[in-house]
Amino acid sequence: MSTKLVCEEYFGGCPQCGEAHWANVHKSHWCFCPHHRVRWSAGENIFSSWHSETEADWRRNREMLSQYREVKPIEMGDPIPMAIEAESSVTALLRRIAGQIGGAA
Ligand SMILES: [Zn+2]
Repeated sequence: MSTKLVCEEYFGGCPQCGEAHWANVHKSHWCFCPHHRVRWSAGENIFSSWHSETEADWRRNREMLSQYREVKPIEMGDPIPMAIEAESSVTALLRRIAGQIGGAA
């Protein structure tokens, strides 16, 4: 199973799903999650990627990020709430099925 249970993003992940996408606004690096519309700062001028971008890129990114809520990300190694929830509901389901069979496992 490829589902991640812990955040594997060095600059933190979405507090709900643990994902991180990237966008630069000039030399500021932002992480964001398009599914949950949240963002968090990853610092400034850490990567050189912004050098090859234009004012138009940054304006587009700034507009996109302005619609996202700024949050505190979960850190690398932290459990991902959505994955944990999904797993515990699967576990609960399996337990219920096992119970119906008569717990003869
Ligand atoms: Zn998310």
